[in-house]
Amino acid sequence: MAIFNLGSINADYFYRVPHLPGPGETLASTGLSRGLGGKGANMSVAAARAGARTIHIGAVGADGLWARDQMMESGVDTRHVATLADTPTGHAIINVDDAGENAIVLLPGANHAIPSETQEAALSEAAAGDILLVQNETLMQAEMAKTARDLGLYVAYAAAPFDASATAAILPYLDFLILNEVEAEQLAQSIGKTPEALGIADVIITLGAKGARWINGSQTRDFPAMPVTAVDTTGAGDTFTGFVLAARDRGLPMEQAIALAMRAAALMVTRHGTADVIPDLKDVDEARF
Ligand code: AMP
Repeated sequence: MAIFNLGSINADYFYRVPHLPGPGETLASTGLSRGLGGKGANMSVAAARAGARTIHIGAVGADGLWARDQMMESGVDTRHVATLADTPTGHAIINVDDAGENAIVLLPGANHAIPSETQEAALSEAAAGDILLVQNETLMQAEMAKTARDLGLYVAYAAAPFDASATAAILPYLDFLILNEVEAEQLAQSIGKTPEALGIADVIITLGAKGARWINGSQTRDFPAMPVTAVDTTGAGDTFTGFVLAARDRGLPMEQAIALAMRAAALMVTRHGTADVIPDLKDVDEARF
């Protein structure tokens, strides 16, 4: 089967600065590095490295071909990543100071201009039983989810970054919802329902160093995190999501899928970086915790 992921692709620009700039301040950066990011791209890379046939649905500008190519090198099918002539690639300007604090400016760019024909062309290749994955860094998630549900796909949604109206719109079409502790709290506040009361087949709440909770109908099961020393938790949730869905896509029971994702995410938090350091299945198999 396959995972179709309608998701963001970002160019992350990390500027090292002695301190975060204040209003009116001009500050010299002491170094710049560039990397592939965006929750969508991270999840596609994770799913592909976890062994799933992963088709990304998205868009970049002419300045983002390297980002698309980096996804392709990780095994993601990028035939349905459109290249837009007049729109810049989504990007994040990430200032990181000497204390490790950061301040981020995010431009959605091409992520908010994914052509509807691109979305339709991708879904025309999907078959019942395939997975559709969406997050909140693109538009049109609910429309896509509804169409996919009608085609018999398993519809998975990572409610990140949290957006109350996007979440409310997509809830009726979901088979799978994944969110972190903060997002679960925001969801409960915005729609007045606990995850248990949503009527979604599988809900996973990731709990950082405390692991994850799986809610399946009236059953709730907690999975402890692997004991590791975290150095950078960026992308841990995205890695978890990509791995758990890839495992489900190849027919593993959810308990085993979560256990695998837990190991992959634990390995991820021991590494500095984002998409470039997402582990593959072999790394996870060989890891000793
Ligand atoms: P979060 O998005 O912070 O909830 O983290 C997502 C997943 O990454 C968790 O469910 C864990 O599997 C893993 N994770 C995050 N932080 C840690 C940590 N300090 N130690 C081990 N695993 C972690």
